[in-house]
Amino acid sequence: VLSKPEILVVAKLWPPLMEALLTEFVVHDRLHESDPAAFAEVAPRIRGISANGESKVPRELIDRLPALEVISVFGVGYDGVDVAAAAERNIPVTNTPDVLTDDVADMGIALMLSIARRIPHADKFVRAGEWPNGPMPLARKVSGARLGIVGLGRIGQAIATRAEGFGMSIAYTTRTAKPQSPYRYYPTPQALAAEVDFLIVITPGGAGTKGLINAEVLKALGPDGILINVARGTVVDQAALIDALAQGTIAGAALDVFEAEPQVPEALRQRDNVVLTPHIASATWQTRRAMADLAYGNLHAHFAGKPLLTPVPA
Ligand code: NDP
Repeated sequence: VLSKPEILVVAKLWPPLMEALLTEFVVHDRLHESDPAAFAEVAPRIRGISANGESKVPRELIDRLPALEVISVFGVGYDGVDVAAAAERNIPVTNTPDVLTDDVADMGIALMLSIARRIPHADKFVRAGEWPNGPMPLARKVSGARLGIVGLGRIGQAIATRAEGFGMSIAYTTRTAKPQSPYRYYPTPQALAAEVDFLIVITPGGAGTKGLINAEVLKALGPDGILINVARGTVVDQAALIDALAQGTIAGAALDVFEAEPQVPEALRQRDNVVLTPHIASATWQTRRAMADLAYGNLHAHFAGKPLLTPVPA
C-alpha cells in the first residue's frame, strides 16, 4: 500500500475543500506558522501545497520544501505565489479560472449600481426610520453612462457583456490591445479614466500592476468619476484613493479588495461616498463548490499521474 502524499495547507481553507483533501492526503494545516519545529521535521516530505488567492507562497517557503511537486491555488489570482521560484524547479502552479468569472463580473456590476444608486445608504436610511423625514439625496444614473474597464480578460469581458445590457458605452485598457474586441482601446489607465464615468479595475495583482491606479489616474477620472475595484487591493494606490475621496478629486468608490486585508483603514470606513465589501466577489455556494472541485482536482490529477486540469501559463 502506497502511503498518502503529504501536503502543506498555507491558508484557512473553505471546509469542504479541506474535507476533500483529507480523503487523499496527509494534511499539515499551516504548520509552518503554528509549529516551526514540527514543520522542520515534515518539510522534507511535503509534496504539494494547497493555497488560496490571498496566500503567500514565497521563495523562502518553496526553498524549504525539497520534495515539492505542485502548488494548487483556490482562486484565479495567484499573485501571492512566487511563480518564478516554482518554475526554476519545474513545479507547476494551478489556479481556478473561468468558474468564478460570472460571480466576479456580477459583483463588479453590483458594486457599480450600489455606489451610484446609493443602495447601502438607502437601506440604512429606511432602517433608521428616516423615510418620513426624507427624501434621500438624488443618486446617479448608470444606464447609458460611460464605462472604462482596466483589464479586459475573462472577467473584464464578462463585465463588458453585462454592461452592454445597461446600454453603457464601453472602453478598456490592457497592456496589449485586443483587436477582436468591439470596445474602444486606450493605452493607459489615465487616458481611459479621462473618458469615462465609471472605472472598473479587474487586472491581476502582483508587481506588474502595483499602484497602477495612482493619483494621476484618479485626477483624470475626475470629480464626477467613480472607481470600482474587484481586482486586488495592491492595484490601487490606497493612500492616493483616500486622498482623492476626501478632496473630491473623484466622486466615490466601491471596493471589494484592499491593500492590507482584512485591515480596512478608518479613513475609508468613515467615508459616506464609498461602498466596502470584504473580498467576496467569488463567494457564492455554487462558485466556491466549483473552485474547490478544481483546487482539489488539480492535486488529485497530479498525484494520479494525469494532466493538470488548470495549470497557470508558464
Ligand atoms: P485574465 O488573465 O483573464 O485577465 C487579466 C487581464 O488584465 C488581461 O486582459 C490583461 O491584458 C490585463 N492586464 C494584465 N496586466 C495589466 C496591466 N499591467 N495593465 C493593464 N492591464 C493588464 O484574468 P481574470 O479576468 O480571470 O482575473 C483577473 C483578476 O481578477 C485575477 O487575477 C484576480 O486578481 C482578480 N479576482 C478578484 C476576485 C475577488 O474576489 N475580488 C475574484 C477573482 C479574481 P494584457 O495581458 O494585455 O495586459
